Amino acid sequence: MRIVLLGAPGSGKGTQAQKLMAERDIPQISTGDLLRAAVASGSALGKRARAAMDAGELVSDDIVLGIIRERLGQPDTGNGFILDGFPRNSAQAEALEAVLADIGQQLDAAVLMDVDPDVLMKRLVGRRTCSKTGKLLNIYFSPKSELDAVIAEGGELIQRADDNEATIGNRLEVYRAQTEPLIEFYRGRGLLRTVNAEGSIDDVYARLLSAVGG
Ligand code: AMP
Repeated sequence: MRIVLLGAPGSGKGTQAQKLMAERDIPQISTGDLLRAAVASGSALGKRARAAMDAGELVSDDIVLGIIRERLGQPDTGNGFILDGFPRNSAQAEALEAVLADIGQQLDAAVLMDVDPDVLMKRLVGRRTCSKTGKLLNIYFSPKSELDAVIAEGGELIQRADDNEATIGNRLEVYRAQTEPLIEFYRGRGLLRTVNAEGSIDDVYARLLSAVGG
């Protein structure tokens, strides 16, 4: 299964990709996670990416495409992959087609995770990551038992630097201006599937599976 997850920040791409990865043994490739790791490592690439990320802008295509080419070349992508947060503009979508053609692969679907804009803000402001496992949680929506378990196991609930109200507004605007046009791009390729991404994680997951043919 080779899929792209499309959708606004907070639409649940990461959560659903993690679930699919765990249950189907297909890697989740999140350019946001790869960029955050580069920033945390203090590498030259991370330093170049950081200012754009802090401002909620897109990191330059040359950086992101370099990262994605390298990642898609790794052996664990043989059975497929879930692209989460990439592509984010038309140039990236076209570059992805070229990279896949080079390695003799093609996408099965681009899944749009559809969420009402009012719901997005609460999801983003409440979002936390377990410092030990990387699991995504939400202080408003996750079961208290799951939040408590992180602390009981010695982890911390970390908030992403760009999940603050000022930056979130810009990220949603960048999504609308640069990423939303990809809906038509993938519709034109016959690859677009739309999933109602509101409701419980398990309900959305069931809809996602049926959209990609199980
Ligand atoms: P995410 O975790 O997908 O919300 O990404 C967090 C931030 O990383 C974004 O706001 C961008 O600054 C940057 N980023 C992630 N993926 C991309 C991409 N495909 N192109 C450009 N910037 C990206």
